[in-house]
Amino acid sequence: MTEKSLIGPPERLESVKRNYFEITETISRAAQESGRKSGDITFLAATKTVEPAIINYAVSLGLKYIGENKVQELLSKYEEYDLDNCQLQFIGHLQTNKVRQIIGKVSMIQSVDSLKLAKEISSQSVKNNVNTDVLLEVNIGREENKSGVLEENLEELLCQTAELSNIKVRGLMTIPPVCDKKADVFKFFYKMYKLFIDISCKTLDNVSMDFLSMGMSDDFEEAILSGANMIRVGSKLFGTRIYR
Ligand SMILES: *Cc1c(COP(=O)(O)O)cnc(C)c1O
Repeated sequence: MTEKSLIGPPERLESVKRNYFEITETISRAAQESGRKSGDITFLAATKTVEPAIINYAVSLGLKYIGENKVQELLSKYEEYDLDNCQLQFIGHLQTNKVRQIIGKVSMIQSVDSLKLAKEISSQSVKNNVNTDVLLEVNIGREENKSGVLEENLEELLCQTAELSNIKVRGLMTIPPVCDKKADVFKFFYKMYKLFIDISCKTLDNVSMDFLSMGMSDDFEEAILSGANMIRVGSKLFGTRIYR
């Protein structure tokens, strides 16, 4: 046996399986600790760089949501996803000129941060006779060069997006700044949760604040404890990413 076959698919699948059940156990525990049930938390797997065979294996274990962050990669893998058993979402930064290529293929776009992008999603959705759910992405750490709307501009974007056809705001998403200390990441998660609750209380037409998407491999437990009901986990499920 060559060395390569030792790190081949069977071992990879075993580790994905182990990781999957570890993650769902942590979700369940964190949900209970925060007064909810595991079924209240949506576990989306971030599938960038992962081959469709491995993704579909995770789907066979019970995974219901997958998310890609690059249009080109999504399109190249699209025919191979097991979409009878899971939903595909778009979670990365989306350029307006690429919207056309993914409308009708994704059930939700998590990364809307400008009216220009929302308008294009709306017009492409009208053209294709589909409805597209979106989350508004918030730059909660006010980081330069990072996607997301600043909190003071969120309500205006929300109201403007709500008026567009064939697009529906279903909640908020964020990627907080990288923090060395857990206490710091809690601060950002809590800030997001407050924003989410404040907006939920306003009951705007054509907006339903169903999802607060935050928390990744290193901090999804903290995110759930802070009120997240959707997490996006990649490397903790599939292993360290290998970029080709
Ligand atoms: C890759 C990615 C994740 C998951 O990151 P991990 O640290 O590997 O869990 C979550 N959200 C987005 C938008 C991503 O691109």
